Amino acid sequence: MKKNGDNVNLNEGHLMLQDLAREFADRELIPNAEDWDRNGTFPAEAIQKARDLGILNCTIPEKYGGMGLSFMDEVIINEELGRGDPGFATITGVTMLACHPVVYAGTEEQKNEFLGRICDGQISAYCVTEPGAGSDVKAIQTTAKLEDDHYRINGSKMWIGGAGYADWFYVLARTGGSDPIKSLSGFIVDSDTPGVIIGKKEDKMGQRCSDTRSVVFNDVVIPKSNLLGGQEGGGWMQAMVAFDRSRPMLASHAVGNARGAMEEAWGYANQRQAFSKPIIEHQSISFMLADMATKIEAARLLVHKSASKLDLGERATLESAHAKRFAADIGMEVATDAVQIFGGYGYSEEFPAARRMRGAKIYQIFGGTSQIQRMIITREIQKSRGETK
Ligand SMILES: Cc1cc2nc3c(=O)[nH]c(=O)nc-3n(C[C@H](O)[C@H](O)[C@H](O)COP(=O)(O)OP(=O)(O)OC[C@H]3O[C@@H](n4cnc5c(N)ncnc54)[C@H](O)[C@@H]3O)c2cc1C
Repeated sequence: MKKNGDNVNLNEGHLMLQDLAREFADRELIPNAEDWDRNGTFPAEAIQKARDLGILNCTIPEKYGGMGLSFMDEVIINEELGRGDPGFATITGVTMLACHPVVYAGTEEQKNEFLGRICDGQISAYCVTEPGAGSDVKAIQTTAKLEDDHYRINGSKMWIGGAGYADWFYVLARTGGSDPIKSLSGFIVDSDTPGVIIGKKEDKMGQRCSDTRSVVFNDVVIPKSNLLGGQEGGGWMQAMVAFDRSRPMLASHAVGNARGAMEEAWGYANQRQAFSKPIIEHQSISFMLADMATKIEAARLLVHKSASKLDLGERATLESAHAKRFAADIGMEVATDAVQIFGGYGYSEEFPAARRMRGAKIYQIFGGTSQIQRMIITREIQKSRGETK
């Protein structure tokens, strides 16, 4: 184990991946982030470069063409991507979000085809949320009806990351029966299937380079073989496992963005003079920076703990919720304090602090809001205490 004060738990392999991703972020993301955000540019070239480096979708198993890296590797890489540009990190993260249900529940044929296509350079998206059902996943209304050898899908999905560029979608739909959970099934739908209608790009507060759209399924006919896992009724578990496995990554993006905000504010605090000294020498500023650093360290430890649990092959619902909730909330606090340290310049889009703050907000909303994470945390602890009926 290499001794490294910043990274007590990381081995040589982790540190190598960290360096690779950090250099990529310094070279390809940080210099472009402002322009991409201002113009809402989808960074296709940078995505390809990251893919070529082997730092995207890295937990896809080797047997399906992936890198077969660990969740720990993934969060280490993704913290650096979040520091480089959280919008870029979201774009690349949503493909893996849609791959998780396939890794978890797909048949060998489905894994070979759909994961293989991602490893060949395709993009996927995760279609769960609907206009009337976000936090309450059980309330979704999209239907999939079996007709002979095919399913017919009808319904609307909302806020789908990467929808405008995706080659295939993971779609959660209702296959019948009165049980709100057992009636949910997962499907893979090619984005060029007739009846798939992709909406306009949403005009978002932050992470404006990331592509978010509605997707309508209007009498979309797909082969029966695209029912994920080959059996109806598995959709709820697929969607929940995808959340558990992707929350550490989202949390690492929030940590990375917070780290970027802190580093930028720290640099500014050293050079900005007020009352004849650098503002870092005013205690209220130095304490703000100290608190930022502590929050980031604590959030990172939770992220690493949740990733380690996943790497043991264990259920990490509680740990992932802790990490996502805490990293999202401290990410917002740190980014807001960074704006404060920049003073009036923090309120200007000429400086990165405002973009970091706008970009931080979404972590408290997508992948399950911070309120929903708290509900999960309480429920999981109650379960472990034997308090649930
Ligand atoms: C930019 C962006 C990208 C996204 N990407 C995707 C994607 O790729 N795929 C996808 O499927 N979805 C995606 N989403 C959807 C996202 O996951 C949902 O927006 C989120 O889960 C919240 O759902 P909602 O917006 O319907 O809010 P609601 O569920 O209506 O919640 C509104 C408010 O009420 C609170 N609330 C709800 N229920 C409770 C409760 N029981 N107790 C306490 N508070 C509660 C919430 O925390 C929130 O503050 C994305 C959203 C955005 C904005």
